Amino acid sequence: MRYNSKFKVQNSKFIFTFYLLLFTFLLGCAKQDRIFRESRIVMDTITTINIVSPSKEKAKEGIEKGFAEIKRLEKLLNYFSPDSEISAINKLSGIRPVKVSKETLEIIKRSLEIAEATGGAFNPTIGPVIKLWRFSRQDKADIIPSEESIRDALELVDYKKVRIDERTSEVFLEMKGMELDLGGIAKGYAADRAIDVIKEMGIKSALVAVAGDIKGYGRRPDQMAWNVGIQDPRPNDEKRDSVFATLYLENMAISTSGDYQRFFIKNGKRYHHIIDPRTGYPAESSTISVSVIADDGFMTDGLSTAMFIFPPERAITLLESLGAEGVIVDRGKNVYITRGLKGKIKIINESYHSTGS
Ligand code: AMP
Ligand code: MG
Repeated sequence: MRYNSKFKVQNSKFIFTFYLLLFTFLLGCAKQDRIFRESRIVMDTITTINIVSPSKEKAKEGIEKGFAEIKRLEKLLNYFSPDSEISAINKLSGIRPVKVSKETLEIIKRSLEIAEATGGAFNPTIGPVIKLWRFSRQDKADIIPSEESIRDALELVDYKKVRIDERTSEVFLEMKGMELDLGGIAKGYAADRAIDVIKEMGIKSALVAVAGDIKGYGRRPDQMAWNVGIQDPRPNDEKRDSVFATLYLENMAISTSGDYQRFFIKNGKRYHHIIDPRTGYPAESSTISVSVIADDGFMTDGLSTAMFIFPPERAITLLESLGAEGVIVDRGKNVYITRGLKGKIKIINESYHSTGS
């Protein structure tokens, strides 16, 4: 009897524990984190937002808020938005300063800092030259501008002639005809801001990719860091997006600039959208793809555009001196990697070779 009652007690304890565990497990299942993902065309490109959440409704809200933020910035920063503050500054260049929001002022200030840090390779006053090349989808033309028009436009490219008055929140382009073009940082900054609004909602993990400008935080539901791919700059099948390398991204941003993103080919020569501010022509280093990894997308976007101007070895040294990481591919499919990234990047396409330097 005694034995039996003890058994019963133990048995009921066991059953209780079993149900408790089952209940916890079911609760866990119901509330399990999942990845919710949506892609849309924004900023003239394909943009994807990934959110980790146990709740579909909360994830949906995060996705909507993220896209709304990117759309807001598209309006604010797009060269073609006639009523943007950037357009107002451009229209009144050489005439008078324009009062702008704190955000626009800050964006221009940070762009000038990147220009300074890259010796002018990143130049936010490249607008008059970009206008001639007409690479954007709204304005696409596949024409090589005349040498004379490039020479004249280059006269107006000088980031040292952007005057900022923080006290009055005013910006003035000193020469008439000068124009800001923030296309080199807009996508990276948009990814940063979309992540900020999603984070503010209390969502624990997300990844936003505005084409090749990607920012993430937190981990995936399987507790792995976000795995991101770097687009193959010379895929065998041009119609299909493929990646040549992958890496794990944790609370960082990565931006990739490539000569395959916006370009045309004339007489066997490739003309792409990253302009060397010294010549007014598409950058002619041997680089075909640059990825930069750092804390924020603004910085990675600006630096990836700028690093295109330099030969790969020089760009790698410069990135290291700026405390950023990077992966650069040249025409021979040689891959150059900063010291801090060695061993962390996986090359998955055999036609690409790490230089080991
Ligand atoms: P990304 O795709 O980030 O490399 O940016 C390319 C865009 O940046 C171009 O479409 C231009 O709008 C702009 N851009 C091109 N060359 C430069 C440059 N040297 N400095 C700053 N912006 C540039
Ligand atoms: Mg860029």
